[in-house]
Amino acid sequence: MSFADLGLSEEILRAVAEQGYTEPTPIQAQAIPAVLSGRDILAAAQTGTGKTAGFTLPILRRLQPQANNSHSPAMHPVRALILTPTRELADQVGDSVKLYGKHLPLRSSVVFGGVNIEPQSRELRAGVEVLVATPGRLLDHVQQKSVNLSRVEVLVMDEADRMLDMGFLPDIRRILALLPANRQTLLFSATFSPEIKKLADQFQKTPLLIEVARQNQTSDQIEQRVHAVELWRKRAVLAQLVRKQKIPQVIVFCNTRHGAEKLSRDLIRDGFSADSIHGEKSQQQRIATLAEFKEGKLNILVATDVAARGLDIDQLPFVVNYDLPNTPEDYVHRIGRTGRAGAKGIAISLVAPEEQKQLAAIEKLVKQSLPVSVIDGFEPGAAPVKEKPSPAALFHTTQLPSGEPPSRFGGRREQQIPALLLPPRSAR
Ligand code: AMP
Repeated sequence: MSFADLGLSEEILRAVAEQGYTEPTPIQAQAIPAVLSGRDILAAAQTGTGKTAGFTLPILRRLQPQANNSHSPAMHPVRALILTPTRELADQVGDSVKLYGKHLPLRSSVVFGGVNIEPQSRELRAGVEVLVATPGRLLDHVQQKSVNLSRVEVLVMDEADRMLDMGFLPDIRRILALLPANRQTLLFSATFSPEIKKLADQFQKTPLLIEVARQNQTSDQIEQRVHAVELWRKRAVLAQLVRKQKIPQVIVFCNTRHGAEKLSRDLIRDGFSADSIHGEKSQQQRIATLAEFKEGKLNILVATDVAARGLDIDQLPFVVNYDLPNTPEDYVHRIGRTGRAGAKGIAISLVAPEEQKQLAAIEKLVKQSLPVSVIDGFEPGAAPVKEKPSPAALFHTTQLPSGEPPSRFGGRREQQIPALLLPPRSAR
């Protein structure tokens, strides 16, 4: 199948060809005709599947007949509204709209919080057909009367699961109350939770269900490696992995802002070019860091989940889970940063004995067992085992005498690590 078979216009096909896309991805092949037909859709698709073009291209096609070069704001009402959970995702979706719509006289704008509202208000007052927004800032604009949502024909909720996780449901309800009842609603979510289904039931009309990968499934383009490493040795393991495997660029995930900040500082001290993005950094700092990473000026980008959400970096071959996420769905999102659009990727997780629970939760969610291996020289809690345990031995350990479930870390538990195995106080 080619893009030309999907009912898009010549102007849009030209923009797609200029991106070098030759074939629609599975989500695009299903979503584009459905959106063009005016149907609501409920799509389970992770980032990396091409979902952004899957909704942007047909929306632009639907808006095209009224596209115009008039200077009058009244001629440019908001006709498509795209809600995203984070500033970064909003920015990236906004870039896609501009890219795919570059041969059309349609205006688009991106609004998110954490930056001066005035330039955004001026842009909105001049009129835009496609508005990409995070929910809170959009409501600020509604209150300031810089935007009117009564002419919206298509609403997209992108990464809807994350918007719910982040507590945006009340804002979403307020926004939906401002939109015409007679509209098209497209709901994209990496996972289909009962809450997402409820949202769909409430706000969609018999949506077409599109699932390109099985629920919570990780892409088979991504090789998942799990290494058992004690907490205090993770930094050394990371440094060795990056050096030995000559990893050119990697995103490293930490669970906390503080952890991300500290790790990036430590990595710089170790001689790497590294920086971090997390919620405590300003929007300008985050954009600048991301740009440096994309330009290849940084080797290691240390990120927390919220800051990294929706990051779209072409050809990122590696991601590392420095901390295992506490929410297993985040594992799917994190490793989805690599192996995008058909490319191969490697996701490495460094798992400490303390993190077995998180690992078990991830395996349950992805319905896969993830074999744990050790890295030579970094075997966790080697003593009192005399011989180096094989990865298989680590994986199939015997029942602990206490009757607790077997550990996959040599049968050892956090509190059993003898004091002499702990790092010197300065390194803790
Ligand atoms: P998304 O899932 O929307 O975040 O897109 C993931 C990546 O796939 C982006 O870098 C897009 O530029 C790229 N992409 C989207 N559609 C295609 C396509 N049909 N062929 C190749 N790459 C694509």
